[in-house]
Amino acid sequence: MKSVTIVDHPLVQHKLTLMRDKTCSTKVFRELFGEIGALLCYEATRDLTLEKIEIETPFAKMMAPVLVGKKLVLAPVGRAGSGFLDGILKLVPSARVAHIGMYRDPRTLVAVEYFFKAPDDMAERIALVLHPMLATGNSAVAAVDRLKESGAKTVRILCILATEQSVGRLRSVHPEVPIFTAAIDDGITDTGYIVPGLGDVGDRMYGTR
Ligand code: URA
Repeated sequence: MKSVTIVDHPLVQHKLTLMRDKTCSTKVFRELFGEIGALLCYEATRDLTLEKIEIETPFAKMMAPVLVGKKLVLAPVGRAGSGFLDGILKLVPSARVAHIGMYRDPRTLVAVEYFFKAPDDMAERIALVLHPMLATGNSAVAAVDRLKESGAKTVRILCILATEQSVGRLRSVHPEVPIFTAAIDDGITDTGYIVPGLGDVGDRMYGTR
């Protein structure tokens, strides 16, 4: 699996452009957020193991593929990460959901954890970290640290936007963790926002500003 996959599918790129537009309404922004989340999940789960079982269609018996092997656990990070959940759970409704309560200190941009909960069998699962905006990479590194502490062995990160800085930071600390992103943007502002970016995605998704 590649270490960074830019999901350049036209549907993803079109939806991303609609979201970047500052006139996009809260309702549409939230819907697009979930849709892009599902499309990123689709890419990140391409290698799930299939096994053939015998079934009977209305016309014939056949051997048909079903999922076997490692199950998924979704691990949304903070308010922004939870925006991916609805869309992704529509695709993989039986996935477990961990919760990584973490926010970025606005002054230091360092990740601060306030809550963590994950299933007991993390070692048996593929953990998908739902972290829509990889700006500095600090909170993504902290989230992966936390999942590994809880036993996770296979971790992948799903984000809408990343930067060279965040990708570099993740590569240096967790080189084996693949990143799936819709784009890599130019950089970050002094206050830690991605440019050109999407603005504060929590505020845009929940209408808090
Ligand atoms: N979080 C956001 O909501 N937006 C950014 O650009 C970076 C982090």
